[in-house]
Amino acid sequence: MNSLLKPLTSELDLYQSVEICEIKRESNSWQLQSSNNQEYGPFDSVAVCIPAPQARNLVMTTKPCWYRILDSVKYEPCLTAMIVLEGNKPDFRYASLENHPQVWRQIEQVENGKCAANLSCWVVHATPAWSSAYLECDYSQFANELAREFLLLNELSHENLLRLNGHRWRYARVNIPLGELSLFDNELQLGLAGDWCLGPNVENAFCSGIDIADKFLLNISKS
Ligand SMILES: Cc1cc2nc3c(=O)[nH]c(=O)nc-3n(C[C@H](O)[C@H](O)[C@H](O)COP(=O)(O)OP(=O)(O)OC[C@H]3O[C@@H](n4cnc5c(N)ncnc54)[C@H](O)[C@@H]3O)c2cc1C
Repeated sequence: MNSLLKPLTSELDLYQSVEICEIKRESNSWQLQSSNNQEYGPFDSVAVCIPAPQARNLVMTTKPCWYRILDSVKYEPCLTAMIVLEGNKPDFRYASLENHPQVWRQIEQVENGKCAANLSCWVVHATPAWSSAYLECDYSQFANELAREFLLLNELSHENLLRLNGHRWRYARVNIPLGELSLFDNELQLGLAGDWCLGPNVENAFCSGIDIADKFLLNISKS
């Protein structure tokens, strides 16, 4: 998915795999601190484009009045298993099982070209209810549980299972959005954006991102 962004960011000064754990306002500029104690800055402006509960922790001290606003945004989690099977079964590509009582929401086969010839690769998303119940389990525990159900559903044995990985999307799907395009403080030069401003999908994230960029640019053109 990130191949879309690579050409757009090729001329930017980009730091990857850096978790920012604190943003500090120091005499009209911003200083950022990472979880491995590196300092970044000073910067004139900061746009925080991460899930609302994580953004809330970052702006808590500099902009406490946003804390309650951000608290109103709610998410559903999604536990996911990535499964590699020997052989070409099952022979469907995609299944959406909204009404499955326990586990599944969606099963999707990874494109053939991305998997060796005699293997099939699957991504299995659990329902929000099941994901909430198992959210704090180990990766291996929930991935094994999802794989067990998947094999059972398709009448396959455990011997067909070659590889298994679990992924925990804690903030997977926005179900109560903010209802505004973005949040912006002109004086602090601080902006917040993300899908959670408007809804649960990429288009919402895109519209929110464009809006916060417009607000920063308008501000620069005025000064
Ligand atoms: C399983 C799944 C399937 C989906 N399928 C679809 C679909 O088919 N179509 C669709 O339109 N949408 C889909 N979505 C939703 C879509 O992925 C989101 O709406 C979109 O990615 C939100 O973009 P964003 O830029 O707001 O946030 P994100 O994509 O969540 O980006 C935020 C980034 O910030 C990083 N980050 C978080 N905290 C920090 C920190 N402290 N410091 C530094 N970096 C940090 C994160 O690692 C992440 O890379 C799906 C989501 C999931 C979970």
